[in-house]
Amino acid sequence: MRSSVAVVGTGYVGLTTGACLAHLGHEVTCVDIDPGKIDRLNRADIHILEDGLEELVVEGLRSGRLRFTTDTAAAVAGRSFVCLCVPSPQADDGSADLSFIRTAAAEMGPHLDPGAVVINKSTVPVGSTDVVAEALGREDVSVVSNPEFLREGSAVHDFLHPDRVVIGADDEAAAMKMVSLYVGLTAPIVVTDPASAELIKYASNAFLAAKLSFINEVADLARALGANIDDVVLGVGSDPRIGRNHLQPGPGWGGSCLPKDTRAMLHMAAGADQPMDLLEAVIAVNEARFDRTAARLAELAGGSLDGVRVAVWGLAFKGGTNDLRSSPSLAVLERVVAAGAEVVAHDPAVDAGAEVLAGVTVVDDPYEACAGAQVLAVLTDWQSFRNLDLDRVVSVMAAPRLLDARNLLDPQTVERCGFQAVRLDG
Ligand code: NAD
Repeated sequence: MRSSVAVVGTGYVGLTTGACLAHLGHEVTCVDIDPGKIDRLNRADIHILEDGLEELVVEGLRSGRLRFTTDTAAAVAGRSFVCLCVPSPQADDGSADLSFIRTAAAEMGPHLDPGAVVINKSTVPVGSTDVVAEALGREDVSVVSNPEFLREGSAVHDFLHPDRVVIGADDEAAAMKMVSLYVGLTAPIVVTDPASAELIKYASNAFLAAKLSFINEVADLARALGANIDDVVLGVGSDPRIGRNHLQPGPGWGGSCLPKDTRAMLHMAAGADQPMDLLEAVIAVNEARFDRTAARLAELAGGSLDGVRVAVWGLAFKGGTNDLRSSPSLAVLERVVAAGAEVVAHDPAVDAGAEVLAGVTVVDDPYEACAGAQVLAVLTDWQSFRNLDLDRVVSVMAAPRLLDARNLLDPQTVERCGFQAVRLDG
């Protein structure tokens, strides 16, 4: 059944949601407070790097099923569904800052049709469905929690092929209406109350963070005991109860969600007088991982990074995205720059000259980043790095030293090219 939908916020979640819902046949209007973004979107100029997203936006614009505007009132009026996809950043005390959500809800409230269903896709603490309802100030509309689980880099695929759809609602009729939006997708649908839906999202992200911190500790142990972490990961991850996803050691986890969501969960737990010691440790292990990665680089450079030219491949928080928010690469580089290094970095999704961090120069070319460098650090798992010419890299570096913090490059090729190479775990 074709529905009319407004999507509020055209970031990673909102734009993907809008484009995919239009692709599924719904009439969608996306609204954002950023006029520059809306101008570009109306020209199908996409600010987000996501496989297949541009094609869906072009398809939606051409068919007339997808529109972009800055006018919230016009966007939500007459719509059966309104999806809230605005930020929920970390506040100073670690809690989730709900001000964007309150503002957006208050702005749209007076313009909603009676019977409209407001779907909150932003990641928010338990109780936020009521916060949205209060800010809307409308007794005649329903609010439903529908946390989003898409992963940046594969957002379109994840939206169209979800593992599960979670719908949290006190109003059963609204939950059933919502199910109709997802007709065409094959996924188990978990219908529950709003508190459980909100907690499902936080618990999922906290568990993923825990897996990553755990395997990073196992990688350190493997190094100390002379075990091969690649084989350990393969052996452990082959157990379907564990799985191989989020079991790859690296320089620490980050991105726009895991850091803020784990802290928001801790804050929420403290508020409920339910300390989460395990989650505290998961975060602490990760902070230590950034220190450790910078320290390993210093060791490789001969004990100190002061005055050392460091080449870096990878700034985004993972390969396949241009999102730099809370990127582990930047967390490590903060430490590297503070230790006195001069950093020249390349990332396939970051333009030359971009100001990502004081003390870091961004260049377009991976070989240019390495010219004259005394050490090269691979910090993001861009698959394209595997195809670079390592002989050429060695020929332009002042000293061919390599820290492959993502275990990305083929160890045999690295050795053949004459690198003095280390990984975090070996
Ligand atoms: P984003 O920062 O990429 O996009 C948010 C957009 O909302 C921006 O374009 C901003 O201009 C717009 N906006 C802010 N206030 C607005 C308002 N009042 N009206 C209209 N537009 C407004 O954020 P995102 O990464 O898409 O995340 C959105 C939410 O989804 C967050 O709660 C996040 O935790 C959650 N989430 C994100 C991901 C992810 O991978 N990025 C995955 C699942 C859930």
